[in-house]
Amino acid sequence: MKKNLNWEERWHPLREEWIIMAAHRQNRPWSGETVPRKVAPLPDYVPACYLCPGNVRVSGHQNDEYEHTFVFDNDHPCVGAHAPTPSPEPSGFYKNRPASGMARVVCCSPKHNLTVAELPAADIAELIKVWAAQTRELSARPEIASVLIFENKGIQVGVSNPHPHCQIYATNFVFKNIETEARASRDHLAETGRALFQDILTAERADGGSRLLFENDTAVAFLPYFARYAYEVYVAPKATHGGLIDLSDAEISDLACALKHVLVKFDNLWQMPFPYVMVLHQAPSDGGDYAGFHFHIEFHPPLRKPDLLKYLAGPEIGGGNFVSDTLPEEKAAELRALSNIHYKER
Ligand SMILES: [Zn+2]
Ligand SMILES: [Zn+2]
Repeated sequence: MKKNLNWEERWHPLREEWIIMAAHRQNRPWSGETVPRKVAPLPDYVPACYLCPGNVRVSGHQNDEYEHTFVFDNDHPCVGAHAPTPSPEPSGFYKNRPASGMARVVCCSPKHNLTVAELPAADIAELIKVWAAQTRELSARPEIASVLIFENKGIQVGVSNPHPHCQIYATNFVFKNIETEARASRDHLAETGRALFQDILTAERADGGSRLLFENDTAVAFLPYFARYAYEVYVAPKATHGGLIDLSDAEISDLACALKHVLVKFDNLWQMPFPYVMVLHQAPSDGGDYAGFHFHIEFHPPLRKPDLLKYLAGPEIGGGNFVSDTLPEEKAAELRALSNIHYKER
């Protein structure tokens, strides 16, 4: 039987690419019923965990008896300060260059069994201040071009240890997504005199706010028009700042409230710790011109349903364009309808 491809493409202004929206509009959207997941309860301290307070890691280093957050150099970094000099230059047109940097781990809480969603907003604000302090310290190093802070959460994104933690890669190169966003923002500012992200925020409001999830004085959270993943959410300050170190204390508090709101919604969706890749997109620190760069946090959750991963396959890996199987406005409505109280506290 012939099957028509009835798709819509939406432009992703930050990635400068088209996203294919292949949601079947005639189908009733999945109702978003919350199926309690069978997640075995965990203790708040695990002797064998390399992130719990006071424990000795495989490197032989001992964690502090920390009470809030704890930062240490990654014992198994993907980027190290002493990257070996590259082997001889390749022949012909192949190129190489030395990649180096520092990799750190940030424990977000001493409690093994918490998710960041369960931290009070004030503690999330303190965590943001830790990220800011790390960014300030690392980006001041002349050899560091970019500081990438992220949290991989859940076995679905390859993380077996549930202890809440983030990672920091401070590198002598700029990751491609940051580079693309920086170029798009620079071009947009030159063409229009406006910050690209401000135009995104304006467009989200002009569209009836159908994808907005949260807003306070200085921060906002939304599923963008061009979302690639079903529950892809952006959280950002309203003002254009290049990175964390430019935020005022009030903006950090507001950002923490926005993060808390989104994270609680995520965990409440299926009443389980919600897996995602969270990444902070900050302007590079390589001395370039990033006036139009607007710091924001992106969530890329891999699940479409409690037991259904969004697989990257032919269109994404083979063709290079993302196919979204859902409409962001429907998913935003689904998240908005959920309780603001974490399911474990009800
Ligand atoms: Zn632990
Ligand atoms: Zn971004």
